Amino acid sequence: MASAESTTEDEPEAETAVETARRQLEHAATHLDVSDGVIERLRQATSVYKVTIPLERDDGTTEVFTGYRAHHDNVRGPYKGGIRYHPDVSEEECVGLSMWMTWKCAVMGIPFGGGKGGVVVDPKELSKGEKERLTRRFAQELRPVIGPMTDIPAPDMGTDPQTMAWFMDAYSMQEGETQPGIVTGKPPVIGGSYGREEAPGRSVGIIAREAIDYYGWAVEETTVAVQGFGSVGANAARYLDDLGATVVAVSDVDGAIYDPHGLDTNDVEDHDETPGMVSGYDAPETLSNDDLLELDVDILIPAAIGNVLTAENAHDVQADMIIEGANGPTTSTADQIFEERGIPVIPDFLANAGGVTVSYFEWLQDINRRAWSLERVNDELETEMLGAWEAICTEQEARDISWRDAAYVVALRRIAEAHEARGLWP
Ligand code: NAD
Repeated sequence: MASAESTTEDEPEAETAVETARRQLEHAATHLDVSDGVIERLRQATSVYKVTIPLERDDGTTEVFTGYRAHHDNVRGPYKGGIRYHPDVSEEECVGLSMWMTWKCAVMGIPFGGGKGGVVVDPKELSKGEKERLTRRFAQELRPVIGPMTDIPAPDMGTDPQTMAWFMDAYSMQEGETQPGIVTGKPPVIGGSYGREEAPGRSVGIIAREAIDYYGWAVEETTVAVQGFGSVGANAARYLDDLGATVVAVSDVDGAIYDPHGLDTNDVEDHDETPGMVSGYDAPETLSNDDLLELDVDILIPAAIGNVLTAENAHDVQADMIIEGANGPTTSTADQIFEERGIPVIPDFLANAGGVTVSYFEWLQDINRRAWSLERVNDELETEMLGAWEAICTEQEARDISWRDAAYVVALRRIAEAHEARGLWP
């Protein structure tokens, strides 16, 4: 706990995801005239399901795992959110993450609400067969509370397209018909969408492009550093590189590579393509991940893990703008410091929302039984991202608030108006 001597810039004690989500909701509510009743409803999850999942291990023994599915709010449409396999999964975490999904869908104008679930398990300790059996049984346990029109899971940490394929198969077998719309993030061969994998990084790139334009910069003169050259980071870096920006540094967990004249990001393979490739790449200079965050660049994109921009390094960050690719890379204290220093921070739940947006496109393709081309997916993603960006620009200018607050205002207003319009039943 912070001592009496601590400065206001000390980090508060780590909050749980649900505490952070509630604090952000209350802060956003101060900018809007929303009834207390609606805010009180949004502080809680509608329901949280806890299930036990018995699994027969490969050695013949039976182990019982715990799984959750949190439903936060569905006033604008079915619950939507990932399924995480991780030892730290908890009820509180699922509720907090489901609240963020509600804001993310609302800021994008997607007709979904917020959900999130997971199993308390270390997926690295499961064989492929064990992971399949666990997933199928989890799908069965959740079957009464999910459905293509009620709650649509997706991949998250520790789960992937294959996991979604097993989940969809288990659900479909029990329903007696193929139901591709039960999950998104599936392989395209069973109803997954082209462009889904690239979408979060692509949306980070689109938002960076718009922000460059907003501040009157020239993309060809813009330098960029990206922490984390994985799915989000590599796609964002390559998008901006292709646009003409100079990507001077990228990193993986082992370190960063740096070339002040610009890296050829298409020549650097990402973490999935070749693990260890980034830090092993033949670049003029190597840096630590900490050094990368403090490079004198125009745009810094943290796209690896959470809480990397903190009270400790926020004063040393030299970037002129931060675009959050990862979820939650900036602590609240660092956010405050950036605001005081006049460094704009474009929030994660707008910038990386291309993922859930293309998940929505996938769901539309599934329920209509009609696949879209990659070109159509990318065109429609562009349209949705521009729509969200314009709505946020309007709020940011009208209220003279941060980009994060403006995004919350857009999201909360849409959710609150939907609650006011539908009223409270009975
Ligand atoms: P990924 O596993 O594909 O890539 C992560 C990258 O970060 C890798 O290059 C890895 O080496 C690096 N990394 C890992 N730990 C690090 C550390 N301690 N310091 C520096 N680098 C580190 O992951 P991803 O899918 O690109 O996700 C990155 C972030 O974006 C996460 O916060 C994730 O929640 C968020 N996100 C992902 C998606 C998605 O659909 N992939 C959507 C929205 C948000």
